[in-house]
Amino acid sequence: MRAQHRELAEQKAELVELRLDWMRSRPDVGRLLKDRPTPVIITCRRRQDCGQWSGTEPQRLALLREAIVAGADYVDLELDVAGRIPRYGSTKRIISYHNFEETPGDLEDIHRELADCDPDIIKIVTMANCQEDNVRMLNLVSSAQIPTVGFCMGEFGITSRLLCGKYGSPFTYAGFSRSREMAPGQLTYAEVRNLYRFNRVTARTKVFAVVGDPIAHSMSPLLHNAAFRRAGFDGIYLPMRIPEGMLTETVENLSPLDIQGYSVTIPHKQEALQLAAVPDSEAQDIGAANTLFRQDGLWHATNTDCSAIEQTVLDGLKRLPNPDRPLMDRRVLILGAGGVARAAVQAMQNHDARVTITNRSADRGRELAEEMECAFLPWENRSTEDYEVLINCTSVGMHPNVDDTPFPDYWMRENTLVFDTVYTPENTLLLKQARERGCATASGVEMFVRQAARQFEIFTGLEAPREYMEETMRRAMAAGPR
Ligand code: NAP
Repeated sequence: MRAQHRELAEQKAELVELRLDWMRSRPDVGRLLKDRPTPVIITCRRRQDCGQWSGTEPQRLALLREAIVAGADYVDLELDVAGRIPRYGSTKRIISYHNFEETPGDLEDIHRELADCDPDIIKIVTMANCQEDNVRMLNLVSSAQIPTVGFCMGEFGITSRLLCGKYGSPFTYAGFSRSREMAPGQLTYAEVRNLYRFNRVTARTKVFAVVGDPIAHSMSPLLHNAAFRRAGFDGIYLPMRIPEGMLTETVENLSPLDIQGYSVTIPHKQEALQLAAVPDSEAQDIGAANTLFRQDGLWHATNTDCSAIEQTVLDGLKRLPNPDRPLMDRRVLILGAGGVARAAVQAMQNHDARVTITNRSADRGRELAEEMECAFLPWENRSTEDYEVLINCTSVGMHPNVDDTPFPDYWMRENTLVFDTVYTPENTLLLKQARERGCATASGVEMFVRQAARQFEIFTGLEAPREYMEETMRRAMAAGPR
């Protein structure tokens, strides 16, 4: 524990919680406090509060009193024991309440009870079962007369864990590492400090989020927060889980948080288009939006996937032997008929390319082809098509099925452009084989960064640091799953 404490201090942590309940043998409080590199909170959580303490309750209270006598900077006392441990010396009292089930309706009453226990700081932490729980919690924090650390746990609670500072919480809680997660949804110190820059968030900081379900593995927070930092923009970008069908209602209910923009991913792209008061023609033509942004109090919607695909293909064409030939009239074969395929058709038609769609499920493919007025080819005949640009918009080849390809190498023609929208991994089997066959290639990472860069520009009004975003994404992918 002392070693980890020193390590956190080296990483500029200003206050460290020492969880005595996690120690296997009886903690030597004097030793933990001696020469401490930062101020500390001494906490010893009971099992009923999801702690690890295995001794008796009198032993636990004795340990907390010992910490106070030894001059700990803060001691954490649960609401029901706070009255039994009086104030002494210079040790500050954090009076805490935890609820691992829900964010109860009577938060204000609980806060009043905590305030009656002679606190220097109130800590109130509850389970969020929906995004709206964060709004109630942050309301409480901002109206509190006594400094209050208040946030929610669980995947839905990340919003308030990261935003509580904006509303007046003196600090938030983060884990030493993934393996030391103390509560559900807890982020690591490195994430909170370096990725989300919690210490820099103020009342003026603008808030953005990516919404989807699932959302935990989205790369968007990494890219956008890195871009904000690089551009010196005062913003924070959060991952927000919103279940299917709940986007409109949740966005409305989150309006007190004054969120300025959302990146939208599966399964909300159609609903995002419907909720926007001002959808642009690109999003309307595609029938889906991946970006919502507020202007003059109204939600605008656009689709940056389309321009990202367009730019990736235009750049890719420059790698062909006849780079000056425009996209117009080039034959493009699109594999897939989902949301990304739809954006790809639109992008290619914007340049009057000759588009053919092929899809595993013929009905879906034929329907999209009819709607977008392009040719359709049955999936089993896809090798027969003469094409100059091949775009994979299926999920085939995506992690973990990295040995799959939607278009075997013996069908490939050299001097064509092969673009795989799959980006996990970047170097898919399709792209590896295309290069071996002498084709030019373009990757899903190029597209992903481009759609994020365009969103960044819409959100901030600044030019996106695109190369830096691409570097950041490749570095993170090389480091492996978070
Ligand atoms: P979607 O709407 O679910 O469509 C998935 C498509 O993949 C459908 O056409 C589906 O065919 C096809 N498919 C799935 N499994 C298949 C298989 N085993 N064999 C043949 N076809 C198969 O998904 P989406 O939103 O369009 O996304 C598609 C892919 O694009 C994602 O998997 C992701 O890798 C990539 N993507 C990239 C970016 C980027 O920025 N680079 C952004 C978003 C998505 P059926 O109709 O027959 O089911």
